[in-house]
Amino acid sequence: MTAAQEGQLVLLIGKDRKSFIVRLQHGVRLQTHRGILEHSDLIGRPMGSRVRSHLGHQYYLLAPSWDDLLRAIRRASQIVYPKDIGYILMKMSIRPGSVVLDAGTGSGALAAAFASAVMPTGWVISYEIREDMLALARRNLAHLGLAEYVTLKHRDIGDGFEETEVDALCLDVPAPWYYLEQAQRALRGGGFFGSILPTANQVIELLRALERSPFAFLEVEEVILRGYKVVSARFRPMDRMVAHTGYLIFARALAAEGSDEEE
Ligand code: SAH
Repeated sequence: MTAAQEGQLVLLIGKDRKSFIVRLQHGVRLQTHRGILEHSDLIGRPMGSRVRSHLGHQYYLLAPSWDDLLRAIRRASQIVYPKDIGYILMKMSIRPGSVVLDAGTGSGALAAAFASAVMPTGWVISYEIREDMLALARRNLAHLGLAEYVTLKHRDIGDGFEETEVDALCLDVPAPWYYLEQAQRALRGGGFFGSILPTANQVIELLRALERSPFAFLEVEEVILRGYKVVSARFRPMDRMVAHTGYLIFARALAAEGSDEEE
């Protein structure tokens, strides 16, 4: 039986599905719209158990999934959705030990997902032009316990990346086509390039630029996810879905000009 420990991130979900993610600490209390839960009463309780607020409302005590954590992240920017993140991790081959560049940091959702995939031996370096965004991302990463795997840099990526030979680089900025030279210089030969864009116009602009740059194997994809109503007697799709989040653009970096073998 695994019990909730002090210092652990836990998820509390009410009957109304409203959920809270907190790091357990003696002496701290969680104030919900349906009453108070004292952390001390939660520490030591088995995970998966039902607990009650002081008003008698029931909550489930669980370890949050990555999906829960990313949904709960404090956001000031548009963040990347878990459905897209999962696919990006696979396509860009991001795994323990990878060195990954991320820009812009925004709320840090993507940086956090990269960190969780590359840890404990890999490293994420995330660039952001806005100080306020960096402060928010720093908070989010600390809350998730991932700060030690992410270096945040307050820099315009137009000025280039300070790293070279990185395994993967992901641009989540409005005009990624301006930064392909910088991206190519930072990536190792064959490294993975990725970008996320909300509109088709931006995708076309990026493709035009990629076609003129030392990148190959261009791909544009979209992940469409449909949820279902999980009632066994009336199993059917949800009425509504998030139909569009963004287009995913992938490419592989080619080695710098002049390093090719003669045919
Ligand atoms: N992937 C992020 C969201 C990024 S939103 C997340 O998951 O939360 C885009 C961010 O790029 C914004 O915060 C913006 O300030 C930043 N940005 C835009 N142009 C930039 C540039 N040239 N250099 C660095 N950051 C930039």
